[in-house]
Amino acid sequence: MQPATKPIRTTCPYCGVGCGVLATPLADGGLAIEGDPDHPANKGRLCVKGAALGETVGLRGRLLDPHIHGRKAGWDKALDLVAKRFGQTIAKHGPDSVAFYVSGQLLTEDYYVANKLMKGFIGSANIDTNSRLCMASSVAGHKRAFGSDTVPGLYDDFEKADTVVLVGSNLAWCHPVLYQRLAAARQARGIKVIVVDPRRTATCDIADLHLALDPGADAALFNLLLAEIDQRGLIDANFIRNVDGLPQALSAARETPPFSTGLTHADLIRFLDLWTRSEKVVTVYSQGINQSDSGTDKVNAILNCHLATGRIGRPGMGPFSVTGQPNAMGGREVGGLANMLACHLDIENVDHRNAVQTFWNAPRMADKPGPKAVDMFRAVETGQIKALWIICTNPAASMPEADRVDRAIKGCDFVVVSDMIADTDTTRLAHVLLPATGWAEKDGTVTNSERRISRQRRTLPPAGQARDDWRILAQVGQRMGWRDAFSWNDPAQIFAEHAALSGIAGRLGRDFDISDHAEITQGQYAAMQPFLWPQSASRRGGRFFGDGAFHTPSGKARMLPITPRRPATLSPEFPFRLNTGRVRDHWHTMTRTGLAPRLSRHIAEPFLEIHPRDAEKLGLAPAALAEVTNPHGRAILRVLITDRVAPGQPFAPIHWTGETAPTGRVGALVPASVDPLSGQPASKSATVAIRPF
Ligand code: SF4
Repeated sequence: MQPATKPIRTTCPYCGVGCGVLATPLADGGLAIEGDPDHPANKGRLCVKGAALGETVGLRGRLLDPHIHGRKAGWDKALDLVAKRFGQTIAKHGPDSVAFYVSGQLLTEDYYVANKLMKGFIGSANIDTNSRLCMASSVAGHKRAFGSDTVPGLYDDFEKADTVVLVGSNLAWCHPVLYQRLAAARQARGIKVIVVDPRRTATCDIADLHLALDPGADAALFNLLLAEIDQRGLIDANFIRNVDGLPQALSAARETPPFSTGLTHADLIRFLDLWTRSEKVVTVYSQGINQSDSGTDKVNAILNCHLATGRIGRPGMGPFSVTGQPNAMGGREVGGLANMLACHLDIENVDHRNAVQTFWNAPRMADKPGPKAVDMFRAVETGQIKALWIICTNPAASMPEADRVDRAIKGCDFVVVSDMIADTDTTRLAHVLLPATGWAEKDGTVTNSERRISRQRRTLPPAGQARDDWRILAQVGQRMGWRDAFSWNDPAQIFAEHAALSGIAGRLGRDFDISDHAEITQGQYAAMQPFLWPQSASRRGGRFFGDGAFHTPSGKARMLPITPRRPATLSPEFPFRLNTGRVRDHWHTMTRTGLAPRLSRHIAEPFLEIHPRDAEKLGLAPAALAEVTNPHGRAILRVLITDRVAPGQPFAPIHWTGETAPTGRVGALVPASVDPLSGQPASKSATVAIRPF
């Protein structure tokens, strides 16, 4: 098919690598897709998901019209009803009786409007996001150590390091282009790669050392490293002047028994040698660390080692959290979590609250954190939240204890769902369904894992009557009586407002300051090139903390004393620890990637990786079906016998939902136990029973 126009520069909507895409509209209404050679994140590369984006556009499965109680309705009627029911609920039961549950797939401008409406005008912090399931423990760990949620380094550091440690990260499948960059640099420069993961993932293909530690033993491993750093006299005497808490952290680290990781002595020593002998070391961590009921402590155990050695914020060294979704970072920038304000300001800080309230000219500001995702759905279950708006996400499939969440939503008085897909586990529960534009139909910005802000651009017309999420939210805000505050004409105006607010955050000591863009015009927004924040002269290198200046009140970083905790214990009734994660070619609940046949060729159905010894004991044959159960739910999965997993530690992917395989929904098995600081659920350690089906 011949291109109808020139390529349009946009950004992939999947993972946090944030690859630049050249999308060329075709005469048949489709899109030709290439990697953008000028985008710094991917330099022309795309993984198979990004490359298949052109096959996922079109009208198949799309929600094309607003619906009220299952019947088509006009936009005005639907928006009037949403505004009326939210207004009535607030009038009768107060602002905390309503809630928004949003998504790291939203663009920054959508996220900004949702936060402004809930936190500044409705006057509640009852807004949380599916990013809670992804990186909340990193946010909490950063804030404890640095005084702010700041990722110190850049992707370039992966290529400049001498040793890269990947902890709880299957980079090869979950951040493939970053993996390709690392693999190429390893080939060229002989970078040592260490993978720390109980499972032998595809990422181990480039590992010089794979540490298949016991599940949840990451904090013990990094405590042992910290004690060894001290033992070898490698504490950086200069840098440590900028850090509080070393004696306490060391004392806790020295308490860690040497055999608490499940690793052999030889492997442990090899790890300690490689880490301590490489000055340029990057420790990359992802969901294996975050998705734990002690995820924040695990993050801080890693940060402790980098702070003690001063290996942070300089080329080729530092801790690095790789996030799951394309805009998990942009969500953090607008305050997308229930415990944050916009621009990395703190909801519990009265000066910060007042500054945001004044800027917004907001009638009633939320003055305390709202419930985090798991607690939000508990509040829906108990009836404290009576009106719920779910935007761009599918919690009835993806939340822990998904069956319980499904029942809670079913029991809620008034449920609004905005989505681009007509039939999902969650859209089925909506009283009002609002059709939203999807990738390629909407304009805005996203921020990737290295703090780089890029444009997503409209390349195709909206499907049916679909509207942009920011516009739907603004139109409800206007109907609720706040006409002036929600009167933008386009996303450029929202971005300019967000940038202006960031200038206030900058004056309050926050590094998230993009106020250079506060006067941005539509033309400049249209032409915006990807850029890193911060943009301040002192941080032009783009890295943080190499200068020893942190964002705590004392200006010093904090090392934390970490006492490693293990995940929930197994029982004779539920003797297996189920690990969960992504596959290479699918994304979330497959509403988009499921449309591209080639993406299902790699893995076509939900499966259970199980060790040969366990399979034999249970009488499971290859490709048979296994029933996996626990008190929260049940899944039926195809048996894949492999020694990639250890005995007792089966693995299942997260993507399949009630619709595509009635019992392939592993979210139903994940317990709603959360990290006490971050509220992030322990999605990698459900205790389960397994039997032949
Ligand atoms: Fe998209 Fe991530 Fe693949 Fe890049 S690596 S093309 S952002 S899914």
